[in-house]
Amino acid sequence: MGIIVQKFGGTSVADPQKIHNVAKAVIREKENGNDVVVVVSAMGHTTDHLIKLAKEVTSTPDSREMDMLLSTGEQVSIALLAMAIQSHGYKAVSMNGQQVGIVTECIHSKARIVDIKTDKLQKKIEEGNIIVVAGFQGVTPDGEITTLGRGGSDTSAVAIAAALKADRCDIYTDVEGVYATDPRIVPNIQKTDVISYEEMLELARVGANVLHPRSVETAKQFNVPLRVRSSFKLDNLGTLIIGVDNMEIYKPVAGVAADSSQIRILLSELPDIPGTAAKLFGSLAKSNISVDMIIQSLASNGTNSIAFTVDAEDFESTMTTLEALKAELKAGEILIDKDIAKVSIVGAGMVDRPGIAADMFRSLAENNINIKMISTSEIKISCLVEKENAKNAIKALCKEFGLESTESADVKGDLPDV
Ligand code: ASP
Ligand code: MG
Repeated sequence: MGIIVQKFGGTSVADPQKIHNVAKAVIREKENGNDVVVVVSAMGHTTDHLIKLAKEVTSTPDSREMDMLLSTGEQVSIALLAMAIQSHGYKAVSMNGQQVGIVTECIHSKARIVDIKTDKLQKKIEEGNIIVVAGFQGVTPDGEITTLGRGGSDTSAVAIAAALKADRCDIYTDVEGVYATDPRIVPNIQKTDVISYEEMLELARVGANVLHPRSVETAKQFNVPLRVRSSFKLDNLGTLIIGVDNMEIYKPVAGVAADSSQIRILLSELPDIPGTAAKLFGSLAKSNISVDMIIQSLASNGTNSIAFTVDAEDFESTMTTLEALKAELKAGEILIDKDIAKVSIVGAGMVDRPGIAADMFRSLAENNINIKMISTSEIKISCLVEKENAKNAIKALCKEFGLESTESADVKGDLPDV
């Protein structure tokens, strides 16, 4: 008999009927002979509504009070789910983050979990209970309530699975698992049966909205086998996410994703002397701006130009930093390009296979898509393209790397959001 941690998102517990369906899925796992800990998010769009409510009271809500407010959403759903499970004749008990002892750092609205106490959980499990835990929330060593950032319940579930040394953590969603790309763009897309933590993390970083990236990081760190599976088709096993050493890799590319939230900035005519890039990126780092792609190139007149991309959210502060630095750097012009998207292919199988980058570039060229910047890592190749070409690029790349399927993906509700 093992321990299984299950996680259900907001859409799965959106109304009483759905809460009963979740209760059945939980009981089914218990009937398989396992101890079950189930982590839930707030019902439906509760968190969005609470944020809206706070903004109606003040445009600058205090972050401690925001956490106090938002943590109530999950407290509602755990109580209701525990009642539903009990109504089917099983023992269940709900616990909030504080009761479990999900200890976080004291950073309101995006705290990281530092420790999970297991004694109370273990005791309740031994008493024969199904435990229903509030996702997304924790408590600081001083007893302050914190939340983990939007979509944080995935991370709560994986961290609890790691702490309890669970056999598996199952993340239930509206879709049947992880697809090789967004099925709204390519409906006839393959579902992935097995993918590595490394690939899943890269895909999450480059724009795939399946799992909260920190949940995958935690799963990787503690080697927790993770499944993304459908809450409508309980017999389907979905997608298994495990360590790369434990899997056979047949295909070079596991997934394709696009991110349209970046802006490209180009500084021209920078003097070609030591320290220029250090000064530029040092100042950006000091302003807490993370830079993604970077290209430096030497012009025929002996000056450099440096192009880089930042998240659109950081655009204003990037420009303020650059304006202050422009004279000191002796930069010529600052050019801005907002109509861009970064399209990436990810796959652990590309490590030992030459020519994957060339195949990507050729496929884009055949579709008349111009590449503005390129960056690579061991298991990822990204190309910056015009925003209007992003969807076509995804379609072309899915075809190029054999990720299409003969059947259409079954997408029930909204795709899971992070
Ligand atoms: N309820 C929180 C949110 O909407 C946490 C979660 O759903 O994972 O972001
Ligand atoms: Mg989610």
